[in-house]
Amino acid sequence: MVGNGTPPVRESITDLHLFIIWSRGREKEREILEDLEREFEVLEVSDVTWTAADFSRNLTRFYGEALPSGSEKERHCGNGPFLVVVVRDPSPEYRLRSLRPGKTQVVDLRTLDAKERYRGWTGGGHRVHATLEPREFAHDLFLLFGRLPSHYAHTDRWDGGIESFNSEPVGAHGWRDLEQLLTGLELTVGHVVLTEPAGSADGRVSVAVEDPWWAAVVADGQPGVEDPWAAEHLVRVNGRSVRLELEQLSPMTEPNSTGRTWTLRLRALAIDLVSRLGSGKTGLALVYHGLAQSPGDPSREVLPPHGLAEFVQQVRALKRRYRIVPASELLHATRARRRGARLPVALTFDDDLASHVQVAAPVLRELGVPATFFLSGTANPWWWDDLQWAVDRQRLTPSDLSDIDANDVTGALQRQEGAVRRVATTIERAAPNRLREIASRLRELSADRFDFGLQRTDVRALGEAFEIGFHTVEHPLLTQLDDDALADALTSGRNRLAEESGRPIRLFAYPHGKADARVVAAARTAGYTAAFAGGGRPILGRSEALDLPRWEPPRTAGAAFELAVARTIRG
Ligand SMILES: [Zn+2]
Repeated sequence: MVGNGTPPVRESITDLHLFIIWSRGREKEREILEDLEREFEVLEVSDVTWTAADFSRNLTRFYGEALPSGSEKERHCGNGPFLVVVVRDPSPEYRLRSLRPGKTQVVDLRTLDAKERYRGWTGGGHRVHATLEPREFAHDLFLLFGRLPSHYAHTDRWDGGIESFNSEPVGAHGWRDLEQLLTGLELTVGHVVLTEPAGSADGRVSVAVEDPWWAAVVADGQPGVEDPWAAEHLVRVNGRSVRLELEQLSPMTEPNSTGRTWTLRLRALAIDLVSRLGSGKTGLALVYHGLAQSPGDPSREVLPPHGLAEFVQQVRALKRRYRIVPASELLHATRARRRGARLPVALTFDDDLASHVQVAAPVLRELGVPATFFLSGTANPWWWDDLQWAVDRQRLTPSDLSDIDANDVTGALQRQEGAVRRVATTIERAAPNRLREIASRLRELSADRFDFGLQRTDVRALGEAFEIGFHTVEHPLLTQLDDDALADALTSGRNRLAEESGRPIRLFAYPHGKADARVVAAARTAGYTAAFAGGGRPILGRSEALDLPRWEPPRTAGAAFELAVARTIRG
């Protein structure tokens, strides 16, 4: 992270939601508002009018499902003025749910329940809409008002006033600038990547996204909603016509044939049985970073997220076959395992990411498994996330990073495999002062990046349910630091994290997974009882408690994952 001084105080913005009472539901408006005030903290109420002619088009962009003009949904909801209520959920209950076939989501049950209740009051249809998770809130809010969730970071309770808006959704009559269009797409379809510098001579913008169909609908160009599958759409940006080319980000998971799945699964089972029946002392610590709706691309991302569906399958598979323990107990469990008993594994998460509290924690709670989160306790952005964003948005040039191989920077911008990782590895090894300079340059380039970060209240919430370890405040490569700086990195910020998480901090994870004998000795001096590095190896009975290896699981699920675990834990 870019860090000096105290981190900024930020309120949690992950518990914000909005409700829409469409015009034909407004006869129950008073009851709904009263109920919302009882169940939630109401922050703002707005009265919004869209022109009738564009109403269905707007609904399509809003819901991401094709709705023709005068659609059933439009007639059912009514196309008159509607009410938008922004609330904060004081006690969100995030759980895993499948609300649409084939799509697993983590949703706030309290918001879901309230929505169903109001739908019942208004005739049992869709006359009330509610956002169920932070990304949906960000999307709806941006389309409605062009605002980011941080707009409400310091908002007090609603004062009873209702502001009126006579405005179409953002982008309905073109976009203010390219940045606004790209932000709209990012909030809607997730990861947005410019595949070449924008605004070349022919006014073309080439973008890769996970869901080109919805991106076309949100961008609202021509043919846009009329033919979202078209590869190119003419979009108004800053009064000019821009050719928006949409392509699919490369899909990550290759489908397994059933026969192959069974072969892999049987092989995994056989390896596990042999390991279990033997007296070998082995265990495995898994390390995760971010989670997202879809898995990231290891060849083009510094730290690609694991996809939610794969993650859920992975945890279920681990629970079926192994004994999941907190990281603090893993070495002991490895040593104490009896012949025939299940091998122990631990789940760990690094880097203070919003998806830890929004996605990982609800899934882990739902499946009833322990986990350990290695945190810095700051809400500042990490330089590698800024690097990724600057590359994805083509904001970076080789001259921004003068001591990095220009071929790698250019390669990263051209989406060559492995190039962005090579850039990151070079930055990671830079001397501490130089690293700070690079980090602050990357921060400047990524100042527009939209990032929830892990908030203070989120740290507290994680600490209530899970084990917390320390990961340093600045995330330096510890082997690069002199003795004084090393001792300082291992301890400063630790007490604050203990206080914020409500947990004693006895565990440590080495930044970038790297330590040497001197660093390990310093961690012992700093009073840690266990510390984790990388290395991709299993933990053995003879492993050193202050130098425990961890393994980063692949971004696949099912049989291939099970076989990978079985092979790795066997050692
Ligand atoms: Zn880290």
